[in-house]
Amino acid sequence: MENCIFCRIVNKQIPSKIVYEDENILAFHDIDSKAPVHILIIPKEHIPSMNDINQQNCNIVSHIFYAIPHIVEKLGVKGSGYRVVANCGKDAGQTVDHLHFHILGGRSLSWPPG
Ligand code: AMP
Ligand code: ZN
Repeated sequence: MENCIFCRIVNKQIPSKIVYEDENILAFHDIDSKAPVHILIIPKEHIPSMNDINQQNCNIVSHIFYAIPHIVEKLGVKGSGYRVVANCGKDAGQTVDHLHFHILGGRSLSWPPG
């Protein structure tokens, strides 16, 4: 997906501040951080949104969640707490059509979100 910004980050055509990478997923700092810790975890495969998870590609979701404890430990928020957010579609405010999970932490987070 050459016009997808996150595919371009995966392909290193756009720079990002990578915090974790393996064969199938990438985690990097959000360019417009909403908390002291704000990173995005994405599959390297282009999956447009949560609505596009299916039997063929769903293993990537458990792979991402398996990596989260390791990533948040590296970021120093494993003990203090953090939030995982996936916006899907217009009403949730999804702006990049490549599946991604926000990890937010480093301060007390309000609930419920707006
Ligand atoms: P969402 O609104 O859930 O679709 O989140 C998309 C996120 O991607 C936003 O928080 C943006 O700040 C972030 N973002 C957009 N472009 C980049 C980029 N080039 N590098 C890092 N984060 C980005
Ligand atoms: Zn993509």
